[in-house]
Amino acid sequence: MKAWFHPMSYVPHVSDIDFRSLRADGVRGVIVDLDNTLVGYRALEPEPEVTAWIGQAVHHEVRIIMVTNNGTPWARTVAERLAVPIVANARKPLPRGFRRALRLLGLPREAAVVVGDQLFTDVIGAKLCGLRAILVEPLVSHDPWNTFPLRLLERWLLRGLPRTERTLAQRREGG
Ligand SMILES: [Mg+2]
Repeated sequence: MKAWFHPMSYVPHVSDIDFRSLRADGVRGVIVDLDNTLVGYRALEPEPEVTAWIGQAVHHEVRIIMVTNNGTPWARTVAERLAVPIVANARKPLPRGFRRALRLLGLPREAAVVVGDQLFTDVIGAKLCGLRAILVEPLVSHDPWNTFPLRLLERWLLRGLPRTERTLAQRREGG
C-alpha cells in the first residue's frame, strides 16, 4: 500500500530538483502544482528561486506545465508570468488534468514527472496515471482550513520517509 503514498523523492523546495538528474532518469517534462509548490498560500508572486528554476528547465530542455486545481484568473496570470502552459481546474487527483498535460507536453508518461506539495492530490494523482512524483514541502504551513485534516494524515503516511534535510532558509544562506 505504501507505494501509493510514497513519492520517488521528497525535497524541501522545487528549486532543489536538479534537471540534470531528471534528464538522466529519462524525464523531459515536469507537471508542476501551483499553490504552495510554486507560490505560497496567499502570496501573489513566485519567489525569485522559482523563476530561476523554471529558467534552468529551458536550459536543460525540460518542458514545464502547470496543473492546478485552482481555477482563478490569478492562476493564469502566474502561468503567463512564468511563461508556462497551464491546465487549470484540474480536479486532481482525477487523471484528466494529468492526461491533458501529457498531451500538451507531447510526451509519454515515462518521460514526465509530477511535482507537488500534497500527497492526496499530486502524488496519488500521479500514481493513478502511472506517472512518477516528487513531493515538495508546502511553501507556507498555514493552508486553507479544509486541507488541515489531510495534512495530519499525510504526516502519518510520510513518517520515516527519507528527505533532503536542508531547509530553504539554509539554502538561502548558501549552506
Ligand atoms: Mg499545492
